[in-house]
Amino acid sequence: MTESEHDVALEDTDRLHGRSALVNNVKAAVALAGAVRSTLGPRGLDKMLVEDGGSTTITNDGVTVLETAKVEHPTARLLISTSSAQDRAARDGTTTTVILISELLQNALELVRSGVHPSIITNGYQIALEEALEEMERTSRVPQDESEIRAVVATSISGKVDSVVGRHLTGLAVEAAEALAGEEGGQDLERLRVKRLLIKDGGVLDSEVVHGLVLPKSRMDMASPADAVGGRIAIIDGGMESPELDLEASIEVTSADVLRGFHERSRERMREQVNLLASLDVDLLVVRDGISEDASTMLTDAGITAYRRYDREDLERLARITGSTMVRDSKRIKDEDIGTYSSRSERSYSGVKHTRIDGPEGGAVTVLIRGSSPSVREEVKRAFDDALGVAHRLSADSRVLPGGGATQTHLARHLRAFAPSQIGREQLAIEAFAAALEIVPRTLAENSGLDPIDEILELSAAQAASTKNGAWIGMDVVSGNKVRMDEAGVFDPLFVAHHALAGATEAANSVLRIDDVLWAKQDAQTPDWQSEMENQD
Ligand code: ADP
Ligand code: MG
Repeated sequence: MTESEHDVALEDTDRLHGRSALVNNVKAAVALAGAVRSTLGPRGLDKMLVEDGGSTTITNDGVTVLETAKVEHPTARLLISTSSAQDRAARDGTTTTVILISELLQNALELVRSGVHPSIITNGYQIALEEALEEMERTSRVPQDESEIRAVVATSISGKVDSVVGRHLTGLAVEAAEALAGEEGGQDLERLRVKRLLIKDGGVLDSEVVHGLVLPKSRMDMASPADAVGGRIAIIDGGMESPELDLEASIEVTSADVLRGFHERSRERMREQVNLLASLDVDLLVVRDGISEDASTMLTDAGITAYRRYDREDLERLARITGSTMVRDSKRIKDEDIGTYSSRSERSYSGVKHTRIDGPEGGAVTVLIRGSSPSVREEVKRAFDDALGVAHRLSADSRVLPGGGATQTHLARHLRAFAPSQIGREQLAIEAFAAALEIVPRTLAENSGLDPIDEILELSAAQAASTKNGAWIGMDVVSGNKVRMDEAGVFDPLFVAHHALAGATEAANSVLRIDDVLWAKQDAQTPDWQSEMENQD
């Protein structure tokens, strides 16, 4: 094809090539980072998100802001998905990830403008990343005691809720995470095993962890006992209904006897199922689907209290804490499927009957989240989720780094010393990478009303002057002092910082490798919150 044929083939697209593609992509990244940078750190500001329908959410959480934004620009979308990936993997560090990508890209653009090829920059960034990750590990240490673990978790939610609430939620998160310690189940374990129940009455500080399963349900037949001190439980991942309801089978009714016979037989089968449960000494039955009225009466007569319409996740949690196995078909239940529970009780929360079932096995808990309004409860739940995510992951890898910009300042100093060991122009990229890391202390200072330039210079000088563990000196934005972060109790988990830096570098490098952007002819919008905000002043 000749050049002009290419043009014909691409007539429905706008084309951005080389430098202008990069400029455009960097602009999108900077605009997006501008939307969240003011939320960074404990003194960051909140954002009010307004949805199309007019409903609002107030949040301090970078990833919540980004996931709500309607963004079309492909680079902006890449930043958002990197931030979401950070959220899934580490539950924290989402804002940091976005502002790091934007800074890495801005610094790269400057190098491109001065004649360095993007492929040199991506090489240099990769070298810098590997060195930085190694140095991070060398700088990290394990928490000395339980109170340091609490400080790590508290740091991770410090900007989201006030400090008294933060301490309370930290306590709950650590307690819930301990209940799961040593369990297999991967990254989402804590989401599956910890039930969050939002409860209308009471204040946030009345929120609590219950070592059992609490659900807004009451027993099916009020004639059965409301509580029990323990016994044997069967869990059915199905229903206890008569077959004609299940199958909607049509039968040919030739006489009243046929119909009566049919009912008799299905009652008989139901009775066999109930007898089977009774013969296994079951006194508590929980099922996913329905229980027919007939079955309910038979169960009560057999001394079995029944609950219906539990969703699958709750059944799994219940199976976990009682050591039972869920079975699909109640006719096939065996002795080894039966579990034990240690107590069952019913109680009302704000006028709604709830049932609590405790088991001897652990491995699942319920967190009762209270708060005066739905939006408070939602915000508290989000903060608790983050705290729990961090607490749970810390039990697998507890190494921590100093927060408050200490780690990034130290890494920048380390990389500047390391750069000359490389031959070639990659040196310049390593220095650009080092400078990009300083966006973290700079933004923390800015958000606290401090002068970012002075703060970084002072912080760097304080670290260099310290003879022992200078890397641990950071900026306590609450007091404004340069202090040792372990003394101030400001820690970031290593896995959060590691994942954020690796994710940001990968995203920046993939943008730098783009040489050609073909836009389908539609309005691909770059969000421009910064100038929108300025226009409103
Ligand atoms: P992210 O979404 O990236 O986690 P946050 O708003 O949670 O963003 O801010 C995290 C940053 O705030 C981390 O760099 C952390 O070290 C820093 N930070 C937390 N508490 C303090 C504090 N008291 N003083 C200084 N920095 C803090
Ligand atoms: Mg955070």
